[in-house]
Amino acid sequence: MPTATLQRDTVGVASGWQRELADAIRDPDELCRVLGLDPGLAAAARASAGNFSLLVPRAFAARMRPGDARDPLLLQVLPQPAETTDAAGYSADPLGETTALAAPGLVKKYAGRALLLLTGGCAINCRYCFRREFPYAASGATRRGVDEGLAAIAADASITEVILSGGDPLLADDAFLHGLVARLDGIPHLRRLRIHTRLPVVLPSRITSDLVALLGASRLARVVVLHANHPAELDAAVADAVRRLASAPAVVLNQAVLLAGVNDSAAVLGSLSERLVELGVVPYYLHLLDRVRGAAHFDVPDSRALPLHRQLRDSLPGYAVPRLVREVPGEPAKVWMG
Ligand SMILES: *Cc1c(COP(=O)(O)O)cnc(C)c1O
Ligand code: SF4
Repeated sequence: MPTATLQRDTVGVASGWQRELADAIRDPDELCRVLGLDPGLAAAARASAGNFSLLVPRAFAARMRPGDARDPLLLQVLPQPAETTDAAGYSADPLGETTALAAPGLVKKYAGRALLLLTGGCAINCRYCFRREFPYAASGATRRGVDEGLAAIAADASITEVILSGGDPLLADDAFLHGLVARLDGIPHLRRLRIHTRLPVVLPSRITSDLVALLGASRLARVVVLHANHPAELDAAVADAVRRLASAPAVVLNQAVLLAGVNDSAAVLGSLSERLVELGVVPYYLHLLDRVRGAAHFDVPDSRALPLHRQLRDSLPGYAVPRLVREVPGEPAKVWMG
């Protein structure tokens, strides 16, 4: 998929990235056909997906190895029968976020920072996602809910950083983001704008020159936190998107989730870190899995996670070692492990 050419032609018109998103793979049969996989996997996927259906952009699917049912990118998106078995300790809202809503669409849980949930949508459905059952519509994570979130931010001078989250906040179009950033710029106590997004990785054509320009025009310092779990996710189109983002300028970080069968080896995590650094991205967090219902088969127990992290610390420069963290409901910050 020629993402690199699509992303250059666009100036706002319904274009490149929006067409690519509309054209994303939603049918397990099609994904299995494209990858030359056993159609039985597609039938199992359809039976296991529940309300969280398959969604994967073609540019991301193109980075999977044809014919490999254990491909680490495929495992992140293909529904598995294991999702339908209940596991003790796994729930619909593992972080208790629905109770941390300070206003519709606003999560105020970390000191000085507020999360604004812009949309429930994503360009990819990651099977391990801790918000796979988050009640976005009821939580006010809509464009209308944003108005109330902004009012709550304006009324609370302890908030210095706004984190745009979702779903994926960069699914909002440039005109909407332009208006939003202008309103954030106008709140005097804000100093930083952070964006949590997987789009530069899964739909790199989203990083349009308009987007880079609107970020660059803000008076706020910009931090963009990507989400990639495996070095095979980071191809040349992603490298290009990261370069454009960084030119805003913005500090670019990555968070990964430690996932059984995907990246639970020192070799894979080490090459993920090295590839990120090559792209100019700082490996920021390595999350232990949040215990969301349907994701138990991705869990890597602490007894394996801690030695893995130790191996990274022993073999990589310090700046390339992500912090191993766990989110604990009710804690004011992530818990650093190891
Ligand atoms: C941890 C976390 C934050 C806050 O991140 P820090 O980098 O620790 O400030 C915001 N949003 C989500 C979803 C998080 O998991
Ligand atoms: S991109 Fe992020 S929010 Fe969206 S499904 Fe994947 S992990 Fe969840």
